[in-house]
Formats: sequence, C-alpha cells, structure tokens
Amino acid sequence: MAELLINSQAFKHNLNLISTHLKSQKNLALVLKDNAYGHGLKEMAGLARENGIESVFVKNEFEALQICHYFKHITAFYGEVSQDAPSNIYQCVQTLDTLGSITPTRGFELEVNCGMNRNGISVDCLKDAFTIIAKRKLNLIGVFTHNGFGDEGGEDLKRQESNSERIRQEVVSLCTSHNLPLPRFHASNSSGTFRQESCNDIVRIGLAGYGYLCAEIDNPPPLKPIASLWADRICSHTLKKGEKIGYGGVWQMQEDRVVSSYDLGYGDGLFRIHEHTHGKLLCDEGEQILPRMSMDCFSTLSEKERICLFRDVRGWARFFDTIPYEILTKLSPFIKKRVL
Ligand SMILES: *Cc1c(COP(=O)(O)O)cnc(C)c1O
Repeated sequence: MAELLINSQAFKHNLNLISTHLKSQKNLALVLKDNAYGHGLKEMAGLARENGIESVFVKNEFEALQICHYFKHITAFYGEVSQDAPSNIYQCVQTLDTLGSITPTRGFELEVNCGMNRNGISVDCLKDAFTIIAKRKLNLIGVFTHNGFGDEGGEDLKRQESNSERIRQEVVSLCTSHNLPLPRFHASNSSGTFRQESCNDIVRIGLAGYGYLCAEIDNPPPLKPIASLWADRICSHTLKKGEKIGYGGVWQMQEDRVVSSYDLGYGDGLFRIHEHTHGKLLCDEGEQILPRMSMDCFSTLSEKERICLFRDVRGWARFFDTIPYEILTKLSPFIKKRVL
C-alpha cells in the first residue's frame, strides 16, 4: 500500500536549526494546520511532542480536538471553539463582534492587521478591543500579526514588521492601563523568522519544520524535507511497440517494454496527468508518470516493486507552477503515514 514516510531525524534536524537561529527552542511554536501540511496531524503532533514543542497552531477546532492532550497550548486559526472544548484550545478572534460574543472563559488570541489586509482587527480598533476585553473580563492569551511579505522581503516586509512592533507596544500600554496581564505576542512565520533577529515571544513555524523555505535569502538554512511519497506496484505487463495504455489509450508504447501500474492517483491528491499536461512529470528516480493518470493508480515504464514519487517536493512544485505548500496540503489524509 502507498505510504508517506516521515523521517523523524530530518524533522529533529530542522527543529534544531530553527532553535539555533532563535537561540532557544522555548519560543518555537509549530503550525500543524491542514493535516500538518499533509504529513499527518497525529503523526506530526506525536513527533512535535517528543521534541518538546508546547504550542501549536491548527486550522480549526476539529483538528485541535484530535491533538489536545499532546500540548499545553493549541490555537485554532479559524472558526469558533465550542463551549465544552478543553481549556487549552484557543480561538482566534479577527473581529470586534467576536470579542462581544465569545465565552469569557475561552482562551483566545487576537489577530491584528499589520498591513496584509487579510485577517484581523484594524490597529484603529485596538483601544476598543481592549475596552471590551477588560469589561467582559475575557481570557486573552495572545495577540498576533501576520506578515504578507515573508517570502519576498523588501520594503513591504519592513513596513509590516514595524507596524507589528507598534501594535506590540500599544498592546503593552493598553494592558498596563487596563491592569491586564500581558498576553504572548507573535508575528513571524518560517520565512519571517529566518529574515530577522528578534522574534517576539513565539514564532509560528510551519513550512520550515517540514524541511522547506520559500524565501530567497542569503545563506538559507540547510533544512531537510521530511516526507517522501511511495507507491507500490499493482501489476506489470510486457507490451509491444504500438500498444496503448490506460483511459483513451493516449500513451502508446514506443518499443517493446514492461509497464507497471502503481497505487496512487489523482484521488489521493496528486494531479491528473493527461495528454495536455505540459512536459513530463517524473518520479524521484526519473521514471515518467504516463498520461493519463487514473483516480487510484498511474502507469510507468518500470518493474520496481515500490517507486518513490518524491523525496523533495520542490521539483513537482516547479512543474505545476506552484509552491511546496500546495502539493503537500493536497495529499489525501487517507494516504498511510509511517514515521521512521
Ligand atoms: C500558515 C501560517 C503560518 C505558518 O507559515 P509558514 O510559512 O508555513 O511557516 C503562520 N501564521 C499564520 C497565521 C498562518 O496562517
């Protein structure tokens, strides 16, 4: 059966590199959203816990509930957290309306817009936000911003960083004037973390933990991709030149050869390679995935029992004109995971 193999040593190596950069592992929080970027939520949560991670971020309450006993702090980026959910699951709040309605005991992290103009309350609303927080005696755990220019860098990154720092200072002064305990403050994702020196109370590390960085920076850290995708052989056939393979028979044998089918397809989150797909999509050792890929299998000119589709997803990302995030998060959660 096809498997996604997770290399626990490579993961540890990445966490060590990040901790060295941060000069401590205490402020490394891991982002496990979207099934841990396709790597398997439970498997990655287990590894994160073994490596001493205390704070994680997930997509929503559904993900948080599956791993709530693994960590001290679990923050759900999106959606509400139910009243009866464990108290170490925090909700993210992106509007003043939510501050008015959230259960006062529920821990939450307030997102403030530092210029990306995607999520979060505007800086102008901070004062009102803290008035509501103080009045309703809300359980404020953290305040955070998110920079939209971590990958690109440049002036826009700097501007959003300085907005973020101003937000942090205003939060400190609002807490002082309302006599509230200071929440944790965080702003950086993977690329932001490797671009700057000071990284606030915690950093939210996603992609770098899995072994990639999309930012073009000088001396990039030698991260190691932790996942490799493997498919097993279903069948082999010896075909003659001119014989056709698969739906529509669009692949025609150019010589007499053995062709085998393997147990992964577009139903597992891979893309459907078909006759109009530009270029040749190759497996890790160069075997071409022949058009057309089926829902649960593909064919290639190989006799291997087991074939590696990728050990480093960047090649596939380039092929599909996208980023590693998209290839990884689309991998079906039903692909079996095995931690090595
Ligand atoms: C996904 C996400 C992160 C992690 O980003 P990486 O680039 O994978 O490190 C951090 N913060 C927020 C708000 C996110 O949505």
